[in-house]
Amino acid sequence: MPATIDLTDPSARPARPQAAKAASQTMDGKPTLIGMSREEMVAAMADAGVPEKQRKMRVNQIWHWLYVRGSSDFADMHTISKELREKLAERYTVARPEIVEEQISNDGTRKWLMRFPPRGAGRPVEVETVYIPEEGRGTLCISSQVGCTLTCTFCHTGTQKLVRNLTAEEILSQLLVARDRLGDFPHKDTPQGAIVPAEGRKVTNIVMMGMGEPLYNFDNVKQALLIASDGDGLALSRRRITLSTSGVVPGIVRTGEEIGVMLAISLHAVRDELRDELVPINKKYPLKELLEACRTYPGVSNARRITFEYVMLKGVNDSLSDAKELVRLLKGIPAKINLIPFNPWPGSAYECSDWETIETFADFVNANGYASPIRTPRGRDILAACGQLKSESERMRKKDRDELESMALQAMMIAGHGAD
Ligand code: SF4
Repeated sequence: MPATIDLTDPSARPARPQAAKAASQTMDGKPTLIGMSREEMVAAMADAGVPEKQRKMRVNQIWHWLYVRGSSDFADMHTISKELREKLAERYTVARPEIVEEQISNDGTRKWLMRFPPRGAGRPVEVETVYIPEEGRGTLCISSQVGCTLTCTFCHTGTQKLVRNLTAEEILSQLLVARDRLGDFPHKDTPQGAIVPAEGRKVTNIVMMGMGEPLYNFDNVKQALLIASDGDGLALSRRRITLSTSGVVPGIVRTGEEIGVMLAISLHAVRDELRDELVPINKKYPLKELLEACRTYPGVSNARRITFEYVMLKGVNDSLSDAKELVRLLKGIPAKINLIPFNPWPGSAYECSDWETIETFADFVNANGYASPIRTPRGRDILAACGQLKSESERMRKKDRDELESMALQAMMIAGHGAD
């Protein structure tokens, strides 16, 4: 049985009075300091009446409280005068989003359903974040959009319209919530029985591979990832952050130059004709252009390989000739191939390849010098429970549940990719 904590039931809710109080502040529409660049925060200090000479110092203090100590309330920030804390609290918030539900799988995989304000979307949006613990590392799968404009035919999110882009704060908050709930800030305890890496950090890697195409929300993703990798704050190494794209070529170049994180490509087909169907953005940026962008990706090397994701679809892309073409196409690119057994969703047109076929494919690719791990699904028990998710005010519509299931599936697929 999965352990599920329904946070809509007050009696089952873990004691987090700060977060609950703060979440309503965020819903009230106060601007948040979370996700602001240092320059934006300096401007916020000016707005709060901080003398010019002190602004940088105050920003450094707040940065430390937010991203090293994990504070979600100005009242905690005792190195700052009470008067300034009160002024800041009148104008701004540093609150976490509301956590609607937390689910914990038998294998330690966790999912959080978070609610963010409408911000032009008409109603609040709900976003799911998935944590996958493994031997020696813990990977967090983060969403960048609610829904998606792209229509990859094997992906359930692709059947859902884009609701809106997530802001930098909302992208970063997914990491902050995970670190809160795993006790991954100094002086915070890890919940009893939680499956997390034995030593060091609980969230060691993040992957931008939740819902949405991150390169269609470039500026917010960039700002959130630069804050996540800032050495004076959350300090995640850029080698432990992987951005996964369906192949937005101009964004790939910018990612390398402006963010400098690891890259993953949703490849799934080795011929344009088939990729046009599976990943339709291929019509705009065909394989040749995509692979050239990978070949010249800034910083790519044997130590910083590009991950290619390849979902195994029975009779569609799983033949030995596909494997041969894959090896030919990737020649000269330091690469690793994640083979993903397809997990069908209701109404999907594809079936998963037979296990023997997947192994034959993997063996061929491996024998030709490319690591090609077959990804095993994680957290299947809580995925099954997705259909039971309920929000406080409304029973989730089927469409929303399907979106969540799709996102959780993707998260399970990539567990373990990125830098070691
Ligand atoms: S695979 Fe990614 S880019 Fe394609 S439809 Fe799904 S969420 Fe969008």
